[in-house]
Amino acid sequence: MSVRVGVLGATGAVGQRLIQLLDPHPDFEIAALTASESSAGKQYSDAAKWRVDSPIPEGVADTTVGATDPEAVPDDVDLLFSSLPSSVGEAVEPAFAEAGYVVSSNSSNARLADDVPLVIPEVNHDHLDLIEVQRDERGWDGALIKNPNCSTITMVPTLGVLAQFGLEKITVSTLQAVSGAGYDGVSSMEIIDNVLPHIGGEEEKMETETRKLLGEFDGAAVDWHDVDVSASCNRVPTLDGHLENVWAETTEDVTPAEAEDAFRDAPGLDLHSSPESLIRVFEDPNRPQPRLDRNVENGQGIAVGPVQSTSDGLQYDCLAHNTIRGAAGASVLNGELLLDQGYL
Ligand code: NAP
Repeated sequence: MSVRVGVLGATGAVGQRLIQLLDPHPDFEIAALTASESSAGKQYSDAAKWRVDSPIPEGVADTTVGATDPEAVPDDVDLLFSSLPSSVGEAVEPAFAEAGYVVSSNSSNARLADDVPLVIPEVNHDHLDLIEVQRDERGWDGALIKNPNCSTITMVPTLGVLAQFGLEKITVSTLQAVSGAGYDGVSSMEIIDNVLPHIGGEEEKMETETRKLLGEFDGAAVDWHDVDVSASCNRVPTLDGHLENVWAETTEDVTPAEAEDAFRDAPGLDLHSSPESLIRVFEDPNRPQPRLDRNVENGQGIAVGPVQSTSDGLQYDCLAHNTIRGAAGASVLNGELLLDQGYL
């Protein structure tokens, strides 16, 4: 039987991707869509400026958008995917969890909270059991779990693989697509013929979320990894797909060929949306490119270029689809993990 799910912030860039991924999903049935007060009460097709590359699913188009309020969501909905602005998520996500809903959220609020699992299934699925600590501490019947920021998700699966060689220092420079800022995020006057060399808060998110994701969970708390991460984040005029240049220093000597083999052997999971191969390594130094490679493994894969050796360690470029693997697809994978692990 399908799990009845809802989408909070269903009209936005990530909300639309969530609907695209959830509509054909064999285990989830869309039963509630919410957005801001200006959308509530409207038909979804009137409230959303639909921009995803497939039609609005039948059955969604004429659904009435509800208020983002626990009392307005049917009780028989078990799982909510949240793609709300973080200021809104901060206020309402705990209220939904307290009311008994399990919330799988994209928003940045509470990602670093001690009792909130921050999860990429292929990297740290064991952190999901932090839900037990959360429920004990907060007395919730529901739960709140997070996926990381889109720029963090692009890089961390590769770091999860390199961790076997001992991670010491990571330096990363990003080239991030405009869809990462949401539909109203960057004006065309700012981004056409231009690169914006700073994305507010993004560097800090990469530096902190990476360490929590790579940390050890002992059943009570996550001990953050002590790797030193320095990030510089740039917005570029691509539509989808974040490309990142990574420099990695490891405690053990590792050759580029060994690193590439380890990437190719990255262990996967058997969830419905799991990629067959988590990391695709290209031999061509001109890859990965956003337009050509953002849809590897239906947008759930990580594309990596040839690994080079530098005076300090390794250098490589990686790429992921920011609204699929970096946002909506990440939440859906976490939803599938919650189902697999008996939390729904
Ligand atoms: P977006 O396009 O601006 O969409 C925001 C959504 O939230 C819309 O559905 C909007 O509804 C709703 N909303 C706004 N204010 C609200 C309020 N006061 N109460 C209830 N609903 C409200 O943003 P987005 O790009 O989809 O991002 C959503 C979240 O995911 C953000 O926290 C973002 O940081 C995070 N994220 C985004 C990406 C990405 O690649 N875009 C990646 C990772 C994480 P209306 O249409 O009614 O205004």
